[in-house]
Amino acid sequence: MTNQIKHKILQGELYINGKWVSEPDQSYFESLNPATRELVGICAAATREQVNDAVEKANAAYSQWKNIPIPERAAYLTKAAQVFETRKEELARVMTMEMGKVLTESLGEVGVVSATAQYMSGEGRRLFGETVPAGFPDRNVRMVREPLGVAACITPWNFPVSLASYKIFSALIAGNTVVWKPASEVALSAKIFVEILDESGLPAGVLNLITGSGSTVGRTLALHPDVKLISFTGSTEVGQQLAEMSSKTLKRISLELGGKNAVIVLKDADLEKAADGIVKSAFTTTGQRCTAASRVIVDRSVKEQLVQKVVQLTKSMKIGNGLEAGNQVGPLVNADQLNTVEKYVKTAIEQGGKIVSGGQRVTELGGYYYEPTIIENVKPSDVIAQEEIFGPVLAIIEVDSYEEAMEVNNGTIYGLSTAIYTESLHYANRASKEAVSGLVYINNGTSNAEMGVAFGDENVRKRRP
Ligand code: NAP
Repeated sequence: MTNQIKHKILQGELYINGKWVSEPDQSYFESLNPATRELVGICAAATREQVNDAVEKANAAYSQWKNIPIPERAAYLTKAAQVFETRKEELARVMTMEMGKVLTESLGEVGVVSATAQYMSGEGRRLFGETVPAGFPDRNVRMVREPLGVAACITPWNFPVSLASYKIFSALIAGNTVVWKPASEVALSAKIFVEILDESGLPAGVLNLITGSGSTVGRTLALHPDVKLISFTGSTEVGQQLAEMSSKTLKRISLELGGKNAVIVLKDADLEKAADGIVKSAFTTTGQRCTAASRVIVDRSVKEQLVQKVVQLTKSMKIGNGLEAGNQVGPLVNADQLNTVEKYVKTAIEQGGKIVSGGQRVTELGGYYYEPTIIENVKPSDVIAQEEIFGPVLAIIEVDSYEEAMEVNNGTIYGLSTAIYTESLHYANRASKEAVSGLVYINNGTSNAEMGVAFGDENVRKRRP
């Protein structure tokens, strides 16, 4: 640790059956601030037995929780929404300290959590069933929605609390109980999230927090016969492993995985608007979003003009510690991620790419900083155009037509988010159908989400074994 620690060290324990627990010989792991490399705090690393205990307690709580009338379940979420507002600043600061995104983004994310709690409270009243005409006399058919039991929610570090809120609040309102395994990088943010639910009076065992190694905790949850559902957001590799493990006990599984998102810019596009959308989508959260734009597919005739505008906007972005006002690009989450970004940039240059902005670590700031980087002269088959980087790196690919642009867009194993900038209704409409992508934006960047609508990818049908 290079710098002096200037704040109180935080400590996270496991939350099982309504109590913060630890064993006398509990081991702990560290949470480091990527902006300063200082210690933020330590957090309990759960053993397999503790994971099993959490599942057992969640299972025991299920029989009562599922029978509580929905408006009463909703009342806990409504209360939590208020407490999230009260503790917004505190939670947002810890999020920024743990994973580096700038404070305005963290504050916005906590706002999403409150809004999700309110939305899900109302959603409870809409768990409608159906009545269906029967095929036989003297028979009535009705279909009703039932909870499943214990849901295991496994979440990544880039959105420490909002992704958790989508999973946990929807599971709870429907009558399931939850065991939550957050990413290790943001275990202390998770602790505050659970403290808020605890403050809201949630009955014991309904929500349990298990921190610790992904392979130990995640694997135990995936193989546990009493876990009925896995809801996972994270990397494609881990998602695939979880799907395989879960199949052994025939669990339901929901996977939100990686992306290699593109912004298509046609020759009739409003280039100012396109440049703004590209820079925001590529470099917000330091490019560490599943929906981050990492490819620009641009008509050759407007490429020079567009790149000039994108570079100008990028160079004006202020890099630095997310806790300091005015900074727009924080550090990468850890040293591994910084090394990964550096390797991808090196490979891009070896394959003929030309850096037009950035391309270096920012060492003088002390943390894991890398300049927002733009690389042109990239071919659609280059590594940098195919693999998810999860960092502030944007590849520029030139094409000669809409058709070629769409072929390049669809030419990866991913299919999460595509944006198109054009004034043509014809091409906008075609793109919304032809992009093999769960989300298609028209004259807007790739990186957004909307409450209450589907958010997912189409990559399942593209990936080969
Ligand atoms: P990750 O390495 O897959 O980790 C995600 C979660 O899985 C963490 O809680 C992690 O715990 C746990 N985990 C790790 N190995 C595991 C294993 N073998 N079995 C079970 N669980 C395991 O992903 P990440 O680096 O945190 O997040 C970045 C990825 O998430 C990117 O690919 C990004 O595109 C994707 N993402 C997708 C969406 C979407 O909605 N599509 C949204 C956000 C992020 P530890 O932290 O303890 O390792």
